[in-house]
Amino acid sequence: MDIERFDKLGEECGVFGVYDFDGNDVASTIYYGLFALQHRGQESCGIAVSDTNGPKGKVSSRKGMGLCNEVFTQESLGELKGDIGVGHVRYSTAGQSCPENAQPLVLNYVKGTLGLAHNGNLINALELRHELEYSGAIFQTTIDSEVIAYHIARERVNTHSVEDAVAKAIRKIKGAYSLVVMSPRKLIGARDPYGFKPLCIGKRDNAYILASETCALDTVGAEFIRDVEPGEIVTITKDGIQSDCSMCLPKGEAARCVFEYIYFARPDSCIDGVSVYQSRLQAGKYLAIDSPVDADIVVGVPESGNAAALGYSLESGIPYGTAFVKNTYVGRTFIKPKQSSRESSVQVKLNVLKESVRGKRVIMIDDSIVRGTTSDRIISMLREAGASEVHVRISSPPFLWPCYFGTDVPAREQLIAYNRSIDEICDLIGADSLGYLKTERLEQLSEGLPICKGCFTGEYPMEPPKDDIRGDYDK
Ligand code: SF4
Repeated sequence: MDIERFDKLGEECGVFGVYDFDGNDVASTIYYGLFALQHRGQESCGIAVSDTNGPKGKVSSRKGMGLCNEVFTQESLGELKGDIGVGHVRYSTAGQSCPENAQPLVLNYVKGTLGLAHNGNLINALELRHELEYSGAIFQTTIDSEVIAYHIARERVNTHSVEDAVAKAIRKIKGAYSLVVMSPRKLIGARDPYGFKPLCIGKRDNAYILASETCALDTVGAEFIRDVEPGEIVTITKDGIQSDCSMCLPKGEAARCVFEYIYFARPDSCIDGVSVYQSRLQAGKYLAIDSPVDADIVVGVPESGNAAALGYSLESGIPYGTAFVKNTYVGRTFIKPKQSSRESSVQVKLNVLKESVRGKRVIMIDDSIVRGTTSDRIISMLREAGASEVHVRISSPPFLWPCYFGTDVPAREQLIAYNRSIDEICDLIGADSLGYLKTERLEQLSEGLPICKGCFTGEYPMEPPKDDIRGDYDK
């Protein structure tokens, strides 16, 4: 089956974990939490639960390919009994999209059982994997996360507690990770020292929750407690939350992925205290200040372009409008129409409200252009609907470098902005004018929190691998 990803970036995953001290089953809470995180991955999902009062090695799990509502039924959720559990939604950037690579990973080892869900990409996973393979380990998946799980299991044999094993294991790994780990009696969350990927803590009654985004806490009726700090390991037990900050870097050295604010995260989430919606609104305002143009209407390419379009409108005084109706049943991936068929991938996803743009000079705000393969089509759709001019404004700077930390920004040669001027890109996509967010505006989107902007500047917070190793396990 030929699956198309729109010309948008993919996130690597969303994670969720719960420990209910009152002993209630947590599977359905995890399900709704994953549902709220579905935008972070639609290829596969899974839930693993355990009973903290039951036998130490017993974990029930279910995972499969597809969306949460395709993989789980009320019946299958009812079979997952336990008061502690972790869940995962996946989008693959390293490791194939196949059932074996679905998470959470569940590992039975000498000290009991581990369940692990991971968001991010490691840059030294290949080397660590080879080391483990030479010492006899047999891998069942082609994902980085299994390397982490193995290391935790190995360290656990010689450490006093599972959190110490997690701490020792993550000292060996390099790259981006937000992890939730379930041991027979503890729920652990860890965020890499740069804090590339988000992770937050919530509480509902007597249950503690770990989630990739705060929108998942809202969905399950939990109150936000705080973010896990970059480099922090939190251990949740009946005695409360213990924090280990021995891996934390000085505050100014963190490097959150700025693309969480621009595109990945849901607008109703806050990451490290910064509202995603506000940062998109702000990006639109900066575009209006830095790339003004006379027009009749400002429209956003849904969903992430909408808040930036509103920001542009507020700053410029040009009316905000809706030009696109999105088919909400199409995810970020779907079955690509055959070349011979008359359906167009873009049109399956978006349709233009002709009444809204006919005879008008339109400013169209999108969050990014990766390869540029869909931008020209969307612009032609606006012109076919009667727009007299189409001015494109992008709420991020041009992509010039790949990402090694869990986002599928591809190799440079595939990026439309590589080796091209803005005018050349504008011609290629068929716009009347084109403007990008200035790189120096990026820090302001995170309200001054230190960010990674490697895919725009080529300056990464850590030495990137010499070769593009993404997906190498599959070779
Ligand atoms: S390189 Fe770009 S996409 Fe990758 S973590 Fe950094 S900002 Fe995010």
